[in-house]
Amino acid sequence: MTTRIDGGDGADRPAGVAGADLFTNADLRAWVARAERALVRHRALLDRLDARLGDGDHGENMSVGFGDAVRSLNADPDGHDAGELLRDLGQVLVSSVGGAGGSLYGTAFIEAGIAVVGRSSLQVGDLAVALDAAAEGLARRGRCRVGDKTIYDAMRPAADAIGDAARQGQDVETAIRAAARAARVGMIATRPLIARRGLALRLGEGSRGHQDPGATSCFLLVRSMLPGADGAR
Ligand SMILES: [Mg+2]
Repeated sequence: MTTRIDGGDGADRPAGVAGADLFTNADLRAWVARAERALVRHRALLDRLDARLGDGDHGENMSVGFGDAVRSLNADPDGHDAGELLRDLGQVLVSSVGGAGGSLYGTAFIEAGIAVVGRSSLQVGDLAVALDAAAEGLARRGRCRVGDKTIYDAMRPAADAIGDAARQGQDVETAIRAAARAARVGMIATRPLIARRGLALRLGEGSRGHQDPGATSCFLLVRSMLPGADGAR
């Protein structure tokens, strides 16, 4: 099965946020643009994964939603702290991403924004707080836990990895790289699971052996936080 995606540990990366202590609003905007490109690039893969477990439109839904997210960011080039920016993005995603992904990712971004409202640049500890709030918001909204074969299976470990990195005093890129690795592990771990949420529920045992499309898009989003990780290489 061709579900292979480059890992979060590629060797060829531009400097970008390397060694930086802050994830700025410019980084945040650049991330959303990279995320959109990554989702478009992997649209067919996400649709194919979703065709096995759901209704086959996750790649399309995410590409459309993040296209709208990029347009809304570009239409609003300044002001706003990171929290407002994330919240606004969440509102766009709620209305623009079709399927369950809209309310789940939308809630995640909104909760992340609420968690860091008033911050204009995020330290690693702020990123950890934001991602933890995103993961917990998503879990509440989707009533899911790790192992249910959902987005959360990639998001929770990514949040935990950034939390660990923050406690260890690591820089932004090191923290994000650890999160991308953790998200990838979580994504792959969904393959043998039986789905306990979403459309895949109806498949029961038949959901086993297929990678969750939501965990896959979540990995792509986390990996996109790294400069140069938009799949252009
Ligand atoms: Mg779908």
